[in-house]
Amino acid sequence: LWRFWGPLSALSKVYSQLLSAMASAERLFEILDTEPEVKNAARAKELPLIRGEVEFKDVAFQYGPDKPEVLHDINLKVKPGQRIAIVGPTGAGKSTIVNLLMRFYDVTAGQVTIDGHDVKDVTLESLRSQMGIVLQDSFIFSGTIEENLRYGNEDATDEQLMEAAKSVRIDQFVSKFADGYQTQVEERGSKLSVGQRQLLAFGRVLLSDPRILILDEATSSVDTETELHIQTALARVLEGRTAFIIAHRLSTIRDADLIVVVRDGSITELGTHDELMKTSGLYANLVHSQLLMQQSFNDVLNEKSEQ
Ligand code: ADP
Repeated sequence: LWRFWGPLSALSKVYSQLLSAMASAERLFEILDTEPEVKNAARAKELPLIRGEVEFKDVAFQYGPDKPEVLHDINLKVKPGQRIAIVGPTGAGKSTIVNLLMRFYDVTAGQVTIDGHDVKDVTLESLRSQMGIVLQDSFIFSGTIEENLRYGNEDATDEQLMEAAKSVRIDQFVSKFADGYQTQVEERGSKLSVGQRQLLAFGRVLLSDPRILILDEATSSVDTETELHIQTALARVLEGRTAFIIAHRLSTIRDADLIVVVRDGSITELGTHDELMKTSGLYANLVHSQLLMQQSFNDVLNEKSEQ
């Protein structure tokens, strides 16, 4: 198998993680359709090892000169290790915010900085190699479960691998397979459920240990046992990392250090759950309504904006 992945393994380990994200990123990044035009600046520096402080300063963005502005006046200050839940209806600009953070596109106005470095001034490789990405339906390639995990860090020892697998509860389902970690899985195969694929992606994150994590929380329903494992694993994966979560579950949103409500390209509410609950804003209204019991937060928002 590694013959086929040779070209990827020659790249830095997390850059390959990024490629994997790109391959499955139809929904989040649409990279494959739109050749991103960002390139390293002529004098781009290496981004040093970051702490994970992120700032958006007066950011505006449009996808092209003749395209509408889809983000307006975004200001956001994130301390290292904080969890940011981004919520809002479809098309509000949630994915675009994280696209700019990873510099898949350059801002039209304003600045995105990480530990004070403008993302435009550093090499794409040094920037993206310090970020981990977990998408809704995480990328799996044909190979064994172990190979899929090692994709996060090819240099990981067997011990590190097992430790990561245990802490994100992968061992719980892998032990049920006759071939254990040597079980073959397929790219689009059904051997692993959506929830299990997400756990595998969490395992990769632990192995690559990025300071910034971007997570598009899965909306599809998983069985109760997997759901419990996901919650436990998620807590472990988030530890010590700055995390931008496109969040759907009220529990994830409630626990965030900062909730960012995005509507029509603007931040309309910003604060902790308790702070937002003291206002009479959209967030408080939605939480007070019983709707959230049955539906994901953003689905409820979608219905509201259609009305
Ligand atoms: P969300 O993640 O909240 O659903 P997006 O950030 O994907 O919202 O989209 C924000 C706006 O930008 C939408 O109007 C969407 O149609 C537009 N958009 C998203 N991606 C592209 C793209 N690659 N090219 C042009 N417009 C885009």
